[in-house]
Amino acid sequence: MEKVTLDCDIALAGGGLSAGLIAYALSQRHPELDLRIVDQSEKLGGNHVWSFFDSDIAPENRWIVEPLICHRWEGYDVHFPAHSRTLNTVYNSIESDRLDEVLRAALPPGHILTGTVTDLGPSHISLADGRTISARLVVDARGPGDLSVLQSGWQKFVGQALTIKGGHGLIRPIVMDATVPQLDGYRFVYCLPFDAQTVFVEDTNYSDTPDLDVPAIRARIVKYADAKGWSVAQTGREETGVLPVIIGGNFRNYWKSSNQNIEKAGLRAGLCQPVTGYSLPDAVRLAARFAADPHPKPGMTFEHAEQIWRARGFYRMLDAMLFRAAEPQERYRILQRFYGLSEGLITRFYAGHSTWADKLRVLAGKPPVPVGRAIRAILEKRQ
Ligand SMILES: Cc1cc2nc3c(=O)[nH]c(=O)nc-3n(C[C@H](O)[C@H](O)[C@H](O)COP(=O)(O)OP(=O)(O)OC[C@H]3O[C@@H](n4cnc5c(N)ncnc54)[C@H](O)[C@@H]3O)c2cc1C
Repeated sequence: MEKVTLDCDIALAGGGLSAGLIAYALSQRHPELDLRIVDQSEKLGGNHVWSFFDSDIAPENRWIVEPLICHRWEGYDVHFPAHSRTLNTVYNSIESDRLDEVLRAALPPGHILTGTVTDLGPSHISLADGRTISARLVVDARGPGDLSVLQSGWQKFVGQALTIKGGHGLIRPIVMDATVPQLDGYRFVYCLPFDAQTVFVEDTNYSDTPDLDVPAIRARIVKYADAKGWSVAQTGREETGVLPVIIGGNFRNYWKSSNQNIEKAGLRAGLCQPVTGYSLPDAVRLAARFAADPHPKPGMTFEHAEQIWRARGFYRMLDAMLFRAAEPQERYRILQRFYGLSEGLITRFYAGHSTWADKLRVLAGKPPVPVGRAIRAILEKRQ
C-alpha cells in the first residue's frame, strides 16, 4: 500500500463532541490554520442528542454552540413522587447530524478524514489504512480512556424519538420524571418535545452496573408512552449510552491509562460533570481555550483537566453518597430533595460551578440517606 503523509498544523484524533467543538472554534477564529479531524465513522459526532442549559455556557463562549442548536425551550419540568416543579432556565439540544453538517461547511474539503487511528504521538497520527498525519499539535479526543482505573457508578439509557398521533401535549422538556417505578437504581424518564408530534423519550438508570438491557428498556418506553395516553404512530431514531458517574480514583492514573504525553480532550481528558456524566459544558470551555491560544504550551490540556478534576471533589462525594449510602430504590430521594432547592443553586450545580454556600446547602438538613452510611461512603472513597 502506498504510504501517504499529510502535513498540517493541528490534527484531532476522534471526531466526536469535544474534537468537533475544537475544530469549529479554530475554524472560526484561526481560519489560517491547517487543521485535520479524523474519525472512524463516515459521519462526525456519532448518534447523539447533546443537551445543555444556557447557564452552562459562559456568554463569551456562546458563539461556539449557537450554530449547532437544533431545539431550544424557555424552561423545563421535573416530577418526583413528592413534588413537581417548572424551572425557568433555558434548555437547548444539539443533534449530532447538525454538528457534522456545520463542520463540513466550516472546514475546507479534505480536512475531515475517515479512518481508524491505530497509533498516535505528540506530532503524528497513524491510520489503519497506512496514512500518517504529521502535525505540530495532536489532540486525542477518542472518547473515554480506561475507566476501570476509576471508581464509578453508571448512568445508562435508551432514548427513542416517538411520533405521537394527535400530538404529545408537552410544551417544555421533562428533564426528570421520577414518578416511574424505581428499578435498577435511580430511574427516571427524560422527554424532549422536538415538535408538536415528536417527543424524544429516554429511559435512564443510575445503576451499579454498566450492562444495558436494550429490549427491556425499549419495553419500558412503550409502557411510559401508554401511561401518558400517547398513541405512538412511529418510532424514529434511537440512541443508547452508558456514561460513568465518577465516585473517585486518581486522576493521574486515568490520564496515564491512555498515551500520557499527548494533549487530550473530552472524556479522554476526564472532562465531564461527575454527577450528570455530561461533558458538553467542559468541551465548550476547552474549545474556547484552543481558540484563544492555538499554540498552547505542551501539557496545557493535562493542567486544565487536572485543575477541573481537583475542583470537583464535592460532586464525586455526592456520587459516593448516591451509590454507596442510599439503597438503590431510595436514590430518587436525593434528587427529589435537590430539586426542592433554589433555581440558582441548581443551575450552578449543573454547570459544575457550585459555590461554598451551595455545597453547604446541599448537605444541610436531614439527609435523605442514613447518616452513618453516608459517612462510611465518604471515608471509603478517600482510601
Ligand atoms: C447517547 C448519549 C447522549 C449524551 N447526551 C449528553 C447530553 O445531553 N449533554 C452532555 O453534556 N453530554 C451528553 N453525553 C455525554 C457526553 O457529552 C458525550 O458522551 C460526548 O459525546 C463525549 O464527547 P467526547 O468528544 O469525549 O467523545 P465522543 O463524542 O464519543 O467522540 C469520540 C469519537 O472518537 C471516535 N473514535 C474512537 N476511537 C477511534 C479510533 N481508533 N479512530 C478514529 N476515531 C475513533 C468515535 O467514533 C467518536 O466519534 C451523552 C452521551 C451519550 C452516549
